[in-house]
Amino acid sequence: MSKVKYYYDPDTLSYRKIEPKKSKKYRNIFLFLLGSALFGFLGLIILLNTSWVNTPKELSLEREVRNYELQYDILNRKMDQMEQVLANIEDRDNNIYRLYFEANPIPEEQRRAGFGGVNRYKDLEGFNNSEIIIDATKRLDIIQKEMVIQSKSLDEIAKLAEEKEKLLASIPAIQPVSNEDLTRMASGYGWRSDPFTKARKMHWGMDFTAPRGTPIYASGDGKVVRADNRSSGYGKHVRIDHGYGYISLYGHMSKYNVTVGQKVKRGDLIGFVGSTGRSQAPHVHYEVFKDGERINPINFYYGSLSAEEFENMLRLANQENQSLD
Ligand SMILES: [Zn+2]
Repeated sequence: MSKVKYYYDPDTLSYRKIEPKKSKKYRNIFLFLLGSALFGFLGLIILLNTSWVNTPKELSLEREVRNYELQYDILNRKMDQMEQVLANIEDRDNNIYRLYFEANPIPEEQRRAGFGGVNRYKDLEGFNNSEIIIDATKRLDIIQKEMVIQSKSLDEIAKLAEEKEKLLASIPAIQPVSNEDLTRMASGYGWRSDPFTKARKMHWGMDFTAPRGTPIYASGDGKVVRADNRSSGYGKHVRIDHGYGYISLYGHMSKYNVTVGQKVKRGDLIGFVGSTGRSQAPHVHYEVFKDGERINPINFYYGSLSAEEFENMLRLANQENQSLD
């Protein structure tokens, strides 16, 4: 409300009210409204641009972002656990499984390798939270790759285990005559005197004496490659090829129980004790070949002898006596 103004009228000797002009009154009202509008508008702009006042929508979005951050934190902790478990499996893989099967350990760099070359995370760049999203994605990518490498390694181990089982079944590992049937282990591998000429001569196998007709057993899995008497001195003999470079030979048989080409398992009956060929008494002359060389069979009885029996055999085999050939 504008103030009421008066003036002195000398004619009437009294104060009279000054009546404002109508146009001026309207102009004042207009200016007042314009001022208010400008002030209100400026106020609104200031309000919207200050961070300490949020609209309800902003508040709700902010809550959501905080929730996402929390969830990311939880996901990251789960990844920590996964990485630990995976590292543990990898450690066992390198230092136990692969070691046991004589496979080279997988180098750390190969297991942990990220992805080089093009930037795979370009699409994730340029947002407020790009960094945590890219970090998490990178970690997951590496975990995924590590799992693929680990899985392949375990496939390889499974194959090696199968091979090893086959190898262990194949290598000659038992005595060709069972201990109950054995008269004695008569002569070992090494320099012995020849039963016929009495001269010192290399004896390339082991002699097991047993009564004529005593069963002779295959010392490992394999295939019969010979069952004949066409090899000088051995008489009726059987040779079994075990693979992996191993061949076993059983001499002086009285009778065969296998034919050439037949597959045998360790412990299968392949023939009977006799004294055919260059032999002085019924016995089995037993030889083991590795890659074509005749080696000492004494090292191949871990499948059938106790430690004590082995000690005893070792003592007998080392006596420099006369072989039965
Ligand atoms: Zn012999």
